[in-house]
Amino acid sequence: MKCPKCNSNLRKVEVSVEGAKNKAVSYQCTKCDYFEFEQKSSRKVIEELREAPLKIKQKIIKLSQDRLGIYLNSNVVRSLGIKKGEDIYVSVPDKKHILLELKD
Ligand SMILES: [Zn+2]
Repeated sequence: MKCPKCNSNLRKVEVSVEGAKNKAVSYQCTKCDYFEFEQKSSRKVIEELREAPLKIKQKIIKLSQDRLGIYLNSNVVRSLGIKKGEDIYVSVPDKKHILLELKD
């Protein structure tokens, strides 16, 4: 492949993206500053990042007496489409996990 700007050879460089196993392939000119991402591989990376499960650190808050709660921030609310007053099932599969399950 040739650089569209200066017609020098393009060097293929794999770029790793935080949180994605796939690498994005880019072509960089050996002479000038021309740089492009290969569409197919960069689309794969974007899809992989989009499908990555959300992991957010939340503080446990005190509600009343011995009841505790957590906030669901707007990213979680938006990705699940949940609203105030909806029912949710809570299960505790082991000592390190809380599973929240929405009704269909
Ligand atoms: Zn060039």
